[in-house]
Amino acid sequence: MSLPDRVQRDRELARAAEVVDRCRKCAIGTTRRSSVYGEGDSCAALMVVGEGPGETEDKLGRPFVGRAGELLDRMLLAIDLPREDVYICNTVKCRPTVDTGTRVANRAPTPDEMRNCRPYLDEQIDIIRPRVILALGAPAAKSFLGERFSITKQRGQWFEGPHGIPLLASFHPAYVLRQTGGAMTEVKRLVWVDLKHVRDRLATPPEPPAAPAPEQHSLFD
Ligand code: URA
Repeated sequence: MSLPDRVQRDRELARAAEVVDRCRKCAIGTTRRSSVYGEGDSCAALMVVGEGPGETEDKLGRPFVGRAGELLDRMLLAIDLPREDVYICNTVKCRPTVDTGTRVANRAPTPDEMRNCRPYLDEQIDIIRPRVILALGAPAAKSFLGERFSITKQRGQWFEGPHGIPLLASFHPAYVLRQTGGAMTEVKRLVWVDLKHVRDRLATPPEPPAAPAPEQHSLFD
């Protein structure tokens, strides 16, 4: 990737992040502290897409910087990818919350919120054009693959994402952290299997662009 290309992508992402910051399509646009657009290498081969910002992310305006983010960093390092070499974002850019009466808790984004935010995610994918997308957790996977997607049955398989980009879904690091004992060991094992698929896919050379169709000379046959 040439330097001017990188500068151009960084500029496009910064401009898009400003648009997101002004967005008030959903009520969570008014309750969140910061919008969390995404961060990382604008020329990354791997894009990680999570569910939505949590409390720490909302405070800092950065994706995956809480406990789940620390685990994500370790997961990426396990396949030799420092966080800075990846692009990390979410299906929604504002923290979805619910007021329980005693505290403000995180919740999963609603389908409406995901729909409203989708153009922003699509634009990020358009700008970055990663070689592989890793969707973390059922909401992120379903946002690409449809409501019927089952994270327990279909994680670890390759699907065609936007622009035909290979997409694989795995368990969300927050889900891994909620497990205990043997369940946690097993979920970690499955995530490791998935990460190795990602690593292997990234290690294979990209497919060359399809050759143009041969010219037709039927007039002269
Ligand atoms: N969980 C997510 O899905 N995204 C974040 O940015 C943080 C936690």
